[in-house]
Amino acid sequence: TRSTRPQRLLHAVQKNATRGDPRSVINAIDQFCRHKEWAMNVGDEKGCILDSVVSEVNPSTVLELGTYCGYSTVRIARLLPPGAKFITLEFNPKVAKIARQVIAWAGLEDKIQLVEGASGDLIPKMKEQFGVETFDLVFLDHWKDRYLPDTKLMEECGLLKKGSILLADNVICPGTPDYLEYIRNSPRYKSQYFKSHLEYTKVEDGLEKSVFLG
Ligand code: SAM
Ligand code: MG
Repeated sequence: TRSTRPQRLLHAVQKNATRGDPRSVINAIDQFCRHKEWAMNVGDEKGCILDSVVSEVNPSTVLELGTYCGYSTVRIARLLPPGAKFITLEFNPKVAKIARQVIAWAGLEDKIQLVEGASGDLIPKMKEQFGVETFDLVFLDHWKDRYLPDTKLMEECGLLKKGSILLADNVICPGTPDYLEYIRNSPRYKSQYFKSHLEYTKVEDGLEKSVFLG
């Protein structure tokens, strides 16, 4: 049977990246996606913005919505302080299986809890089943129509505290108009746009960074 794109991405990692070296895993994926097959990773250009936000926040608790092959997961995990709790959610078991192997190749499996399931089911379980009080940083990068309902769900479940940061990818392309309208106009957030480009292209896209004010 034919291989899938995530399987080919994993093979590129195994062929070109050094075990235990997250930077080489990131580089191998970016090379593959820029020159061989486009894939929906946050990518190198927006990845630099993601890196700077993670470094600035220096979070003890992180939630990622949408793991895919684990590219952004590796980017985030390599920058976390020791002992940080990092949960990433993915509802497609086939890509989750690839992500586990990418994460292991980077040597970061002890820093990441990949949970398989839908965000709408798992967010309400974060406190009781996953022992999280609140998240310092949430990276939203799953299906674009889920950004707004899942943000409201995180609010309702008490997972955001004063100063929590939401960082949302693809707010222009493919776009998240209802989320942007909400987050930019709600008095509960202070929001800022970081202009960039859709991964591996010259098409405008960007990240929206929003501080929860409580
Ligand atoms: N963050 C990844 C990166 O930059 O490397 C890319 C994530 S990709 C754009 C989106 C992923 O979210 C897909 O793998 C999809 O299966 C997953 N997904 C979409 N909606 C979801 C949901 N409601 N709950 C869990 N996973 C979801
Ligand atoms: Mg994205």
